Amino acid sequence: MKRRKSIQPFAYDLEEADLKRERAKARELRGSQWWKRQAAKGVCYYCGCSTPSKELTMDHIVPVSRGGKSTKGNVVPCCKACNTAKKQLLPIEWEEYLKTARTKASNQK
Ligand SMILES: [Zn+2]
Repeated sequence: MKRRKSIQPFAYDLEEADLKRERAKARELRGSQWWKRQAAKGVCYYCGCSTPSKELTMDHIVPVSRGGKSTKGNVVPCCKACNTAKKQLLPIEWEEYLKTARTKASNQK
């Protein structure tokens, strides 16, 4: 008999209903004046590059799938490059990515 080990270190016991609720809240936030003001700044929260507000996406600092909430403190505007990178990278790689991206952005100024 083979024993399968879980390889999901962040898999909390999240109920499907909780995930749905947080995602619905995120949609609501995205339609709010508060979010429009965040996006209107035109700056990516992570790398600090200037990005047209239309191209900024909403990102959860702690992903909903890992227990993050759709609250103003956990939701930030983020450019596409960062959004894609954050999904693909491990937290440690993400740190490295941020350092490089921020240096690049400040050199452009
Ligand atoms: Zn960025």
